[in-house]
Amino acid sequence: MKYVYLVGACGSIGTQALDIIRDNKDEFKVIGMSVGSNLELAYKLIEEFKPEIVCYRKESHIKELSYNPITTYGDNGLLEIAKYHKYDNELFINALVGIAGLLPTVEAIRAKKNIALANKETLVVAGDIINNLIKEYNVSLYPIDSEHSAILQCLTGEKIKEVKRLIITASGGSFRDRTREELSNVTVKEALAHPNWSMGPKITIDSATMMNKGFEVIEAHYLFNIPYDRIATILHRESIVHSMVEFNDSSIKAQIGASDMHTPIAYALKYPHHDKLNYDNLNLIGLKLNFEELSYDRYPCLKYAYDAANKGGCYLAVLNAANEAAVKLFLNNKIKFLEIENIINDEINNDEYSKIEYNLDNILSLSYKIINKILTRYGVD
Ligand code: NDP
Ligand code: MG
Repeated sequence: MKYVYLVGACGSIGTQALDIIRDNKDEFKVIGMSVGSNLELAYKLIEEFKPEIVCYRKESHIKELSYNPITTYGDNGLLEIAKYHKYDNELFINALVGIAGLLPTVEAIRAKKNIALANKETLVVAGDIINNLIKEYNVSLYPIDSEHSAILQCLTGEKIKEVKRLIITASGGSFRDRTREELSNVTVKEALAHPNWSMGPKITIDSATMMNKGFEVIEAHYLFNIPYDRIATILHRESIVHSMVEFNDSSIKAQIGASDMHTPIAYALKYPHHDKLNYDNLNLIGLKLNFEELSYDRYPCLKYAYDAANKGGCYLAVLNAANEAAVKLFLNNKIKFLEIENIINDEINNDEYSKIEYNLDNILSLSYKIINKILTRYGVD
């Protein structure tokens, strides 16, 4: 039995993780759960899985239930779930969005939980710190992101020193068929209409700007210990090839499958097993796969991600924080789509941040400082 803690249960990844758990009750038991502000769904999921410890988004969401779990709320509640420890073989699934996911991952590792990580921002801002903690506490971290699940599968049985490069595929996001000129007045509704995947709002915008692919390059660097100059990206509009690994002899391994997050989530939860799943099978007949160049001119955020990665230190936290604030402003109709890029570019070119020492406390305080600074400029909390 795996004893599961799931933070972000009401979201796109959270609910799909619960689909897997629901179908595998003999293998997984939910011990802790954090729920979001969709309260109808929150109470329904709590009553269905009856976790021992529950974290609500806000104190005002706490409600009398048919049983009496340990009840917490807010950021501290997330940490209580991460720290809760009662069983051997505990798995912490992080399906939160943004920098809010970092400390829960850190505390879950310190509590000797294995990690199934959807919250890519954790690795983007603090990849070295997380890798050191994983070694220190001797736990495993399994990626949920489909590209990294694909790379993990392609690397199985292979030697990292024989890898020439990783090739991460990108669908192109909601505006892939528009020129940059056509992006100036796009609406939030248009940006949220992703052609291949149904995901939470933040990652859907990150896909449209291509910052999501930049984050995935950084995530891959920390997960697989491959230098940035050997991590490439390619536009693949079908989202069938989830990513590839090219080896020194020019052989390329690809992992392919339907565009359904249940598969990579199940692989992270059940690693290294490919057990039967009740979701979409890929029909190979008539399938056509296309690959195109991803250009920095069309998608500057991809370049900004490599720039911040090459600057190193706290610049990845700066990149993430500027993006987090800018995406929130766009979603709140405070800025236009293309202004997201300008906000990020201004922050990563600020030399002040080079003086800040890379450690967990500084990463957190700097991130919230930058987010608040940018939001305040536009009158948003
Ligand atoms: P969603 O927005 O769909 O869900 C996130 C959930 O977490 C919501 O229920 C939200 O509650 C809750 N949450 C967010 N912030 C906090 C916080 N500070 N405290 C407590 N709860 C919080 O996001 P996704 O499921 O799409 O994404 C989750 C993570 O997975 C992201 O890092 C994303 O990049 C990554 N990912 C997602 C994929 C997908 O297909 N969706 C694919 C690959 C990676 P509330 O509604 O109250 O805000
Ligand atoms: Mg992905």
